[in-house]
Amino acid sequence: EPAHIPVEHHKVRREQLSPAARKVCVVLQENGYKAFVVGGAVRDLLIGHPPKDYDVATSATPEQVRAAFRRSRIIGRRFKIVHVMSGAETIEVSTFRSSHDTESAHTDEHGRVLRDNVYGNQEEDAARRDFTVNALYYDPSSETIVDYHHGVADIQQKTLRMIGDPRTRYREDPVRMLRAVRLAAKLGLAIDPAASQPIRDMAILLENVPAARLFDEMLKLLFSGYAVKCLKQLREEGLHHGLLPLLDVILEQPMGERFVWLSLENTDERVRQDKSVSPGFLFATLLWHQVLVAWKRKQEAGEHSQPALFEAMDEVLDAQAGKLAITRRIVGDIKDIWALQPRFDKRAGKTPYRLIELPRYRAGWDFLRLRAQAGEIPMESVDWWDRFAHAGHDERDALIRQAP
Ligand code: ATP
Ligand code: MG
Repeated sequence: EPAHIPVEHHKVRREQLSPAARKVCVVLQENGYKAFVVGGAVRDLLIGHPPKDYDVATSATPEQVRAAFRRSRIIGRRFKIVHVMSGAETIEVSTFRSSHDTESAHTDEHGRVLRDNVYGNQEEDAARRDFTVNALYYDPSSETIVDYHHGVADIQQKTLRMIGDPRTRYREDPVRMLRAVRLAAKLGLAIDPAASQPIRDMAILLENVPAARLFDEMLKLLFSGYAVKCLKQLREEGLHHGLLPLLDVILEQPMGERFVWLSLENTDERVRQDKSVSPGFLFATLLWHQVLVAWKRKQEAGEHSQPALFEAMDEVLDAQAGKLAITRRIVGDIKDIWALQPRFDKRAGKTPYRLIELPRYRAGWDFLRLRAQAGEIPMESVDWWDRFAHAGHDERDALIRQAP
């Protein structure tokens, strides 16, 4: 039997939820369905973090949810969920489901998952979730939390505990190992030893995870605002070595270490200040020192600088591609930033004028500055370009004459 924890005990008031999340629950309840705010938002409110988005779990089917809200649409093919729009917000509404969907999905002759196997009751919905702190159901009407797995107590004890047997749950979905590390770092929770112990042995299972999913998860980790903490924890849990070439690059590369950590620290700070961040820029920094090594090797083998750089770029990106499906757009951004770097060395004639007009100039310059901060190149060049970009015409000519 789940515990029903009253508001006097957990202290989360309905006013703390977004208006849209409250409204979606109330409307569904008025239509005779069960509906709760669930998952990350409840957990974050209990911890005192502002939730970044809201999920609602309900006994209504996607079609029933769709019928209850004019501004809503059903998305997803395998697991249907409903996006309900309210004001500027979008609330993700999912029907209670059991765990069969992840492993033993029964499919018809077209590979479609049969619905009967997907949906379940609230108790099953709680059991399929990963950590106890992620399986809390908040009812805005009564301000009660329904807690099947002692998640509220675990939050109070600052523990991230797996629901069920950790080894079994990691085997079902190895990405949970990465989620454990990310959530613990972000929320300041300690991973329960039973959940952290198996990680070292089971890390290898991440090899079977599709590259696209791994890429999504790495993005979440790197842009969590706690990337530095996450990566240090990954190293402690033994989750890096040989697992993802990207992690090895970050964690085992003495050459580029200062550069990479500076970049990660910058990213963390920007995320926490709600500033924009660019995956292309971050990945460009993470892989830069590999490019430098390959570039140098090719030049030493007699290739010209420019073609050697482009070959080095492809070589480094190809090495990532098997395990991590970096999207094409991001690959384009990464290459743009790298390709700009040697152009900052040319400070004569018309070249500088053309360079500062390029759309990626600013990203390229930010990258240059980071290289200087890490001690790879002198700061003088960074300052020169900054002055040049902001100077008037006469001053620019003077700068070009003075350039080394
Ligand atoms: P975040 O703050 O990153 O959004 P979250 O816990 O909300 O954290 P989501 O990916 O948004 O993470 O997932 C929402 C909920 O779905 C989780 O709280 C958890 O209950 C469940 N969930 C997500 N991923 C898994 C998984 N791999 N295995 C089991 N349950 C999961
Ligand atoms: Mg979430």
